[in-house]
Amino acid sequence: MKYLSEYRNLEATKKYLDEIHKITTSVWNIMEICGGQTHSLVKNGILELLPEKVRMIHGPGCPVCVTPLHLIDKAIELLEQGIIVCSFGDMIRVPGSKKSLLEAKANGGDLRILYSPIEAVSIAKQNPDKEVVFFAVGFETTAPANALSVLHAEKEGITNYSILTSHVLVPPAMEAILDDELCTIDAFLGAGHVCAIMGMKEYYPLVEKYKIPIVVTGFEPLDLVQGIYMAVKQLEEGNYELENQYARVVKEEGNIPAIKVIHQVFEIGNREWRGIGEIPNSGYVIKEAYKKYDAEVKFNISNIKVLENSACIAGEILRGIKKPYQCSQFAKVCKPSNPLGAPMVSSEGACAAYYHFSNNLID
Ligand code: SF4
Repeated sequence: MKYLSEYRNLEATKKYLDEIHKITTSVWNIMEICGGQTHSLVKNGILELLPEKVRMIHGPGCPVCVTPLHLIDKAIELLEQGIIVCSFGDMIRVPGSKKSLLEAKANGGDLRILYSPIEAVSIAKQNPDKEVVFFAVGFETTAPANALSVLHAEKEGITNYSILTSHVLVPPAMEAILDDELCTIDAFLGAGHVCAIMGMKEYYPLVEKYKIPIVVTGFEPLDLVQGIYMAVKQLEEGNYELENQYARVVKEEGNIPAIKVIHQVFEIGNREWRGIGEIPNSGYVIKEAYKKYDAEVKFNISNIKVLENSACIAGEILRGIKKPYQCSQFAKVCKPSNPLGAPMVSSEGACAAYYHFSNNLID
């Protein structure tokens, strides 16, 4: 397939790896923001092929992992109130404070696993006597579809549809990581799919303020190795610039119609990140004009803040301070079949990536 098979080409990938080895003279800590990139790095064995001095730090870009515990509890509470709750599949096994959505379904809850929020609007239309809530989780990438579902419900006059929102934004998270006193990051690989929607412009101020290279990067082995090469080259030359490795997908201005839809329904607000805490202006909240589609406003759901499992160090992993194998529970008590935290169960979680693919990386 064009634009995919070329980026899995072994020879081309090896050439960039050789170049990285040639130019690296100092220790560099590079954070890949996106959990999809973490999985690709681990699964394709790239971490083991990099020079020892190039250290990849795994970032918080797993939307399921950063969805606050109390919001999962709220989704479960809605299910237990007899509401039809719809969700993407990767959310359903994430542990809440007492159970997961899947366990609540086993107890009789009407949980539907969907590929698109538009399907949830159709379910609402087919069930006018029931309330339907879509669990709208994600970074900037899923926001256009979730916003569109609200606009579609409004256009169709559907009043029994709403969304439980946990939308977080990448640039404020990068800023929070850089402001952390424990931060050791020298450069970032930016999340290509997020930039495909939002474009590049939000990243220039970060590059300038923190004097740090950012390379917007794709997800295939060649994308990642080329992105790492571009970051290391800048660091070795003492530069800090925003570069676009993923130009076949990411345009400077992003996807303008998608951005317009997002801004029609959502506005920027404070958001809590699981394991990290509240980050100012780090997420989308539903605008006043669309509050009747906000499940947190529409339904009487409790606002109890619950404590995380104290054995789980997901917060430190999501901030790049520790690796999954440094958690005392990793692969002993915490496994995909018995996850203590979201990073072990999500398809983009760093703990799941190391559990499934990384025998050689665990010391
Ligand atoms: S291995 Fe399990 S307990 Fe440890 S940080 Fe990851 S999810 Fe949490």
